[in-house]
Amino acid sequence: MTTLALLPALSLLIPSLSRGLGIPAPTSKILSSTAPTDSQYYFSSHHYFSRNVTRTANTMGMRPNITILHAPSSQCPIQAVGGSLSCSNAAIYVGPESSLTKNNQRRQFILTHELSHIKHNDVLKIGLVSTLAYVVTAVAASFFLPVAGTVGVAFSVFLITLSTMSRHCEKRADLEAQRYCQLMETRQFCQALQELQNAYQQYRNNTMLPFTTRMWNKIRFDSKGNDRLDILHPSLSQRISYLA
Ligand SMILES: [Zn+2]
Repeated sequence: MTTLALLPALSLLIPSLSRGLGIPAPTSKILSSTAPTDSQYYFSSHHYFSRNVTRTANTMGMRPNITILHAPSSQCPIQAVGGSLSCSNAAIYVGPESSLTKNNQRRQFILTHELSHIKHNDVLKIGLVSTLAYVVTAVAASFFLPVAGTVGVAFSVFLITLSTMSRHCEKRADLEAQRYCQLMETRQFCQALQELQNAYQQYRNNTMLPFTTRMWNKIRFDSKGNDRLDILHPSLSQRISYLA
């Protein structure tokens, strides 16, 4: 889900953005500039999600209209955006292939996880509550603090609310996916998280990099390979632990 959680907050202020989020563009339009060849598509995550999204959603008791969109420049392999309170116009954005989506078992777990976000309309809820927390704090703080202090305090409250709610929703989506997935699918997903941790540990311990990069990697990744900057998800260690 990552930073897309911020967009609904903005969309409350900019109606046209809300429309852009709520009503995804047709798939063919998104695919037109980067459409994979037939053989690439057949083995891609996009193909897997397109074929399995309706069946998986029905298994989870959902009957939404979900569009699978190709987002080749996304930083994330997959993101879900629910566009309305009824979840009737939701989208799943599929980014570049990665180790997280390298086989169908991992894909199925991630698809179920993203559908859980849509089912509970997490993006909209997190955006609304975080924005509300910002506004209420800003109004209250403005009686006691100058403008810079008010913005600083309100933004801190916004980030804390965003992080707390997002981590809660991510954990719930993981556990709901575990409930609907087969054991091997959950195991494969945990293995993908472990691979990510190992990669982060390697970045952190790589002594061949320039000094400033090494220092930055030490700040960003802890010794277990968790990304300290990811305030929207439970740490990789926590996710592996509660899914084990
Ligand atoms: Zn998620």
